[in-house]
Amino acid sequence: MNDTLLPGLYIVATPIGNLQDVSRRQEAVLRQADIIAAEDSRVTAKLLNHLEIRKPITAYHDHSADAVRAKLVERMGDEAVALVSDAGTPLISDPGYKLVRDARAAGRLVTTIPGPCAAVAALTLAGLPTDRFLFAGFLPSKAKARADTIAEFGAVRATLLFYESGPRLGKSLQALADGLGDREAAVTREISKAYEETVTGRLSDLVARYADAAPKGEIVIVVGPPGDAAPAGDADIDAALAAALERLPPGKAAREVAKALNMASDGLYERAMALKAGE
Ligand code: SAM
Repeated sequence: MNDTLLPGLYIVATPIGNLQDVSRRQEAVLRQADIIAAEDSRVTAKLLNHLEIRKPITAYHDHSADAVRAKLVERMGDEAVALVSDAGTPLISDPGYKLVRDARAAGRLVTTIPGPCAAVAALTLAGLPTDRFLFAGFLPSKAKARADTIAEFGAVRATLLFYESGPRLGKSLQALADGLGDREAAVTREISKAYEETVTGRLSDLVARYADAAPKGEIVIVVGPPGDAAPAGDADIDAALAAALERLPPGKAAREVAKALNMASDGLYERAMALKAGE
C-alpha cells in the first residue's frame, strides 16, 4: 500500500462485532484518508480510538442534504474520502449508495475495501444452499406490509436473508412461517461476538423456540429455498390461507398461498371460501 492515497471515494468495511476483524488494508486506508464520512461519528470515533487514528469525521446519511453530499463529492476531487458505517459493509442496509452514485457521475475514483457483512457471514453459518441467495434487508414492522413483502419472495428459488432485531424476531419468524410454509431456516445471532449463536430448524421449530423470550443482540434470519420444504399438509394450507384471508379476498389469498407453498392453486379458492364462511 502506498503511503498516500489517490483522491476519491474509499468504501471501507468495518467489523460487525469483533474489532480484530479490521484488515490491514482497512486500517491503512482509514489512517491515510483525509476525511472519514461516517453514519454516526461517535460509533466511528470508538473504532478510530481503538486503532489510534486521529482523523476528522463528518456525518453522512443518504438523507443528508444534497449540499452535504455535493460537498463530499467536490472534496473527492483532491482528497481521499473514506466512507464507513456503524458496522459491516457500507451501503448494505446502511447509507452510501447515493454518495457512490454521485461520485461516479462526477467521474471520481470509487473503490471498495471489502470486509465483514452480516448477511454473508450468516449465509456461511446456516448450512443452507448458497448457490443462489436473496438479501431482503429488514422486513417492514407493520403486519400487512410484512406479509405482503414475504409473499413477494414466496416463489423465489433462493435462500433468503433478513436482518432482524431481538424484540421483532418472534413476529417475523411467525410471518415467514405463515407466508412461506415450514421451510428449513436458521437464526444467526451476535456473529463474531462472545455470544455468537446459530439455531437451525424448520421455521415452526424456530417460532416455538423464540415464542417466550426475545433473544438479545443482532440477528440475521436465513430461510432455505422452497424446494427444501416438506410438502404442505392440510393444516399448513389452512393456516396459510387463514393468515392471508386476514388481508386479502379469497381469490388473491388462494393465489398468494399457492405461490408461497409452491403448489397448484386448484382447490385453494374453494378452501379459502369455506374458511371465510367459517367451515
Ligand atoms: N452494513 C451492515 C452489514 O454489512 O452487515 C448491516 C447494517 S444493518 C443497519 C444492522 C443489522 O445487521 C442488524 O440489525 C443485524 O440484523 C445485522 N447484523 C449486524 N451485525 C451483526 C452481527 N454481529 N450478528 C448478526 N447480525 C448482525
